[in-house]
Amino acid sequence: MALSGLQIQKLLPGTNCKECGSSTCMAFAMKLAAKKAMLSECPHASDEAKQTLGAASEPPVKGVKIGADVVSPIGEEIVMYRHEKTFVNKPVIAVNLDEGADLSLAEKIRAYRPVRVGEELFVGAIAITQKSDSEAGAFSEYCAKVYEKTKLPLIIRAKDLTSLDKASAAVTGSHSILCAVSEDIADKEAVKIAQRDNQVLAITAPDVDGIFGLTTMIKAGGFNDLVIEFQTHSLCETFQTNSIARKAALKNNIKALGYAFLRFINTGNAMDDTIAAVTEINKFGGIIVMPSFDPAQLITLLALRQNIYTDPQKPIQVEPKLYAIGEPDKKSPVFVTTNFSLTYFLVSGEIENAGISAWLIIPECEGFSVLTAWAAGKFSGASIGKFIKEIELEKQVDTRSIVIPGYVAQISGELEENLPGFKVLVGPSEAADLEGFIKNVLKK
Ligand code: SF4
Repeated sequence: MALSGLQIQKLLPGTNCKECGSSTCMAFAMKLAAKKAMLSECPHASDEAKQTLGAASEPPVKGVKIGADVVSPIGEEIVMYRHEKTFVNKPVIAVNLDEGADLSLAEKIRAYRPVRVGEELFVGAIAITQKSDSEAGAFSEYCAKVYEKTKLPLIIRAKDLTSLDKASAAVTGSHSILCAVSEDIADKEAVKIAQRDNQVLAITAPDVDGIFGLTTMIKAGGFNDLVIEFQTHSLCETFQTNSIARKAALKNNIKALGYAFLRFINTGNAMDDTIAAVTEINKFGGIIVMPSFDPAQLITLLALRQNIYTDPQKPIQVEPKLYAIGEPDKKSPVFVTTNFSLTYFLVSGEIENAGISAWLIIPECEGFSVLTAWAAGKFSGASIGKFIKEIELEKQVDTRSIVIPGYVAQISGELEENLPGFKVLVGPSEAADLEGFIKNVLKK
């Protein structure tokens, strides 16, 4: 049964030493009760507290870190729906590499690092499926080479226990995932290999009951770095199975299903593959393996994942300050917009596209977009004027005109009142129209 914050607080030392990062033991107890902290963060917890709280404070979905050099935490989710609080660890997007594929492809996968709204996105793991006619030695050699080239954790899909054993040993300590390609090798031997080489084990079985039995047995044996690979045969079944298992873990506290989910996607059709991966991102996927390296498909999935796994209570924002876009001088034009990351990157990108250097003022707007910030009173003539005075814009530029977003044309008068000597120009509403505005209005 879940303990309340007050019950948990009674088991903590009560010294308020702050070493856990919370200001008091009570504050830490509340975080534990909400499953937003781990008891291990308190270095002074007594054995009694560990025993009593250990199970109660475990997140309902077991957290696992995959990778040693490029580390991706997965699991630890505490809500069914993002709007209830937030999702914690974004799913790893992985790419399948056929055994024997040219190693330059592995390097390409590793080098693929698109940047979106200031965040570098990347493929988090490489899956290697053993060829049916391949020997254990050749397979393990190939796995070792791919790991050496990329340092990405591997998802090792061996055809038998001997191959799994050798491949795991070849990348020992990489915290890769060993896939039990058939139920008969998801036995005690596979667990021993995972334990020996500090790897994660993927459990699979034909149905949820089978998974339940395997995870229960392996956990009882003392190994718990597990992920689950459900065997489903349609998008609908996948959607249902993921949802039922996650609900069982979160709402019914069924620990045997409280693990991240691994899914190999390969429908034979790029569009269907994308749809299947999107379903995983939206519905509790933990590791999603795409069948091949397709940058167009990957950027779609990585961008969707970034959107879903942003904390809805904390919009992604950039630091409020005066930004130099390109190499502006004292006569360069000055623009203003909000500190919502997407807005900042769109506007700065369009200024760059127009081929000019400029100053971009980003006042504090709590990460809201232009219209939302204006409606909330965070992007008014008075607040922008105050910020511009604080950063002493007058001393930094000779320019005495400021371009505001077209959506808030109504604040131009108020801004001019707050900034005597400045002229306010109303720019376009959409960032995409900035280039035309710069060429047709500013440069005239
Ligand atoms: S580290 Fe432990 S004793 Fe110190 S404040 Fe946190 S919960 Fe209390």
